[in-house]
Amino acid sequence: MQKKEYYLPYGHQYIDEEDIKEVVKVLKGDWITQGSKVAEFGKDLADYTGAKYAVVFNSGTAALHTAYFAANIKEDDEIITSPITFLSTANAALFLRAYPVFVDIEKDTGNINPDLIEKAITKRTKAIIPVDYGGYPVDLEKISKIAKKHNLLVIEDACHALGAEYRYSSQPSTHHLQLDNWVKVGNCRYSDMTIFSFHPVKSITTGEGGAVLTNNKKFYEKLLLFRNHGVTQNPDKFLNKDLVSGPTSHLLPSWYYEMQLLGYNYRLTDIQCALGISQLKKLSKFIQRRREIAQIYQDAFKNNDFFDLPQEKDYAKSSWHLYPIKLKDKYKNKKREIFAKLRGKGLGVQVHYIPVYWQPYYQELGYKKGICPNAEDFYRREISIPLYPAMSDEEIEYVTRKIFEVFKEV
Ligand SMILES: *Cc1c(COP(=O)(O)O)cnc(C)c1O
Repeated sequence: MQKKEYYLPYGHQYIDEEDIKEVVKVLKGDWITQGSKVAEFGKDLADYTGAKYAVVFNSGTAALHTAYFAANIKEDDEIITSPITFLSTANAALFLRAYPVFVDIEKDTGNINPDLIEKAITKRTKAIIPVDYGGYPVDLEKISKIAKKHNLLVIEDACHALGAEYRYSSQPSTHHLQLDNWVKVGNCRYSDMTIFSFHPVKSITTGEGGAVLTNNKKFYEKLLLFRNHGVTQNPDKFLNKDLVSGPTSHLLPSWYYEMQLLGYNYRLTDIQCALGISQLKKLSKFIQRRREIAQIYQDAFKNNDFFDLPQEKDYAKSSWHLYPIKLKDKYKNKKREIFAKLRGKGLGVQVHYIPVYWQPYYQELGYKKGICPNAEDFYRREISIPLYPAMSDEEIEYVTRKIFEVFKEV
């Protein structure tokens, strides 16, 4: 029998015939960019997460940029975030001439350490922007308490965490034992806005795409404006009152629109939204499969001598965007070799992430190496191994076998 050749990336989309059919339907229709699918996808996301409003964007980065704008983050303001994230969490602050302040992470989860946040707050701080690293939710209840105390906003970068859940503490006033306090990430119970990405490696995909969830109408309206050049066509919102309510209001021309702020074209297309709607229907199955695969890894790698495993605490359930292993001390200095050998055996491993402030651009801005020792240590140890819903049991077994092979070689 021919030996099977594998190349298993760390993450991959899952697209089926149904998805393709939905996209083709839009392509054959009249509206391929701004038809009914945009609002429908937004509504489905709001329904799924339990948030009041969802606004979709043409990338997670555009969604972050717009959320920060809606939060009125501007020149010389500061935002507090984690260095173990994708660049755009921090870059979106720079887009607005504001500055990210990096706070160190928890060693186990890779998430920002809530206990270190208060020390980093200054008069300029506007928002705390935690990242649900690898799909594992931050302790948002704890972070929102700190934010409230200092009058800050919480914007959750949940680009990894669509489909993750967390439990909030029971209200002391209730007499019943509340057993079911679980909510979905994105419900905005403890965040002012929560951001998702629909890049192909994320929980669901629209090719490129993203969303902001919020319960706040003011934010919602600003998000809509910024997405579309700052333009509104809604007569109720026009600022030019002469036209709307003056003696000539009956002449309000139907071509009339108003630009009220400087926005961008951050719109997601109907074509992509059709894909998103169809993908969202399968999200629960995707997450269930991700959890199964993670459990197989947890069992297979239990008590091994080479690396530490990701752990869930009792307040949250991960969406398992990543399965990050962390090399034990003995292997920490062999990461390059281990990584190359894993790639050589067909495992498309990746590293999440190089601390953002290590990037030359940030170094140039004056950020110093060494400011977040846990994050830097995490970076030296971390490797993300393949995990995505389309993996077969055979492929999972292949991954575990090859990983043990590599560690026995080094
Ligand atoms: C993917 C990702 C983003 C950016 O999303 P894009 O859709 O690629 O623009 C932002 N933050 C985190 C943590 C991400 O993983």
